[in-house]
This record gives sequence, structure tokens and C-alpha cells, in this order.
Amino acid sequence: MMKYFIGNWKMFGTPKSLSILNKVNYFISRDKNKKKYKVIITPPFTLIQTFVDHFKNKKISIGAQNSYQKEKFSSDTGAISPFMIRSVGAKYTLIGHSDNRKEGDTDKILKDKVKFASKNNLKIIFCIGENKFQKNKKKTFSVLKKQLMNVLEKKLIDNIIIAYEPIWSIGTGKIPSKNELTKSTIFIKSIVKKMLKKKTPIVLYGGSVDENSVNLFKQIKEIDGFLIGGASKSSKKFIDIIKNYYT
Ligand code: PEP
Repeated sequence: MMKYFIGNWKMFGTPKSLSILNKVNYFISRDKNKKKYKVIITPPFTLIQTFVDHFKNKKISIGAQNSYQKEKFSSDTGAISPFMIRSVGAKYTLIGHSDNRKEGDTDKILKDKVKFASKNNLKIIFCIGENKFQKNKKKTFSVLKKQLMNVLEKKLIDNIIIAYEPIWSIGTGKIPSKNELTKSTIFIKSIVKKMLKKKTPIVLYGGSVDENSVNLFKQIKEIDGFLIGGASKSSKKFIDIIKNYYT
């Protein structure tokens, strides 16, 4: 099964940051495992065009971090539509990251974001996850189920990847236990399988993945890859995550 290593740069990077990805690209091009995985980077909007042009026919694919809930052009100041993202050559977009949910993205908005992104042939990395309060109240499964049921539609079958990111784990160094994470991943897969009639749903994990924690996560075969925040801004850390995954 193909694995995914997705680096989410959040609000980081200038055109000079290309040098980070050049090192990652060089590593992949010489890696004996390179056929087993895909690397996708989601830089800020300001860098998408530069990175797409630079990595055309290379080993790194480029995506956006978000995509607006309308299709093409409108009078929404500051918004970027899926049509615009696609027109500069990005192939993926994150949708539903907890940073954006925190700023007001409801399930209804996310459903529209997913719909229009898919219509514009973007592959969607749809982020879900429970917060600490919900986890402590043992509501993790019901929260995840709701986040999936309220947004997914059958026609997304080929266009969606799920990223499970427990909010309490993002940027904190705290990670779920192996048992917890195995159960949540299997649970998410069963829901997506049922809803999309998809034989092999792709489910990634995100939350404090680094060159050390990956040694635990790699033992969970159900996980199809990782969404990596902090550690993706360092070429060494990002490369070490891939190296350690395969050793
Ligand atoms: C994220 O923001 O999606 C994320 C997983 O961040 P970090 O790896 O820094 O926890």
C-alpha cells in the first residue's frame, strides 16, 4: 500500500524556503524506498505557484492548506477558490484543519469546501479529530463519526484522504497510545468504507509526528501515512521521519 508523508507548513516560508524542499527532493530521488510513498507539501498560498513550477516532474507534489467554499470567483476579500488553486497547478488541498475549524469552519461550510474542491479536481485531505475535553468524556468515536457523516458524500470516493488529528496532540508533543490510535484508525476506516463504498479508505495520522514518534506510529499497519506540521519545516527532521519509517 502506498504511504503518504504530507508536510503542512502553516504560516511559514518565503521563496527562499525552496532550499528546504530541494534537500527533501534530493533525498527522495536517491531513496531505495521511493516507490512506496508519496510526499506532498502544503505551503502557504503565496508559495504554491513557485513550488509547483519548481517541482514539476520531481518527487514532491504541492497542495493548498485550505480552499474556499465557492467555486471560482467572487467578492470575498482574502478568499482563494479551488478553481484558483487548481489553476496554479496544485493537486491537493487540506480541508477542515482544526486551526480553521477554530476560526469558524462549521460542518456545513466544510461540506461546501469539500464539494467545490472535488468539483475542481483537487484531492482533499480532510482533517478530523476530537479535542481534549471530548476525549476525556470518552466521546472520541461519536465526534469522529459526526465529523465524517456531516461532510462526506459517496461521489467523493476517489478524491478523499482522511487525516485523523486529535487536537490535543497537535503541536504539543502528546501522542495517543498505540492501542487508542489503532482503534480510532480502524473505526474511521469502517465508517468511510460504509459511507463511500470504498474498499480501502486512506487514513493518515497527524499530531506531533517527528523522527522519534514515527517509530511508534510505524508499528500500526492500519495507518497509511502522516500529516506533519512542525517537523516538516526542517528538511532533516522530515527526511529522518521517512528514513525511520522504513528502518
Ligand atoms: C498539524 O498542524 O496538522 C500538525 C499535525 O502539527 P504538528 O505535527 O506540529 O503536531
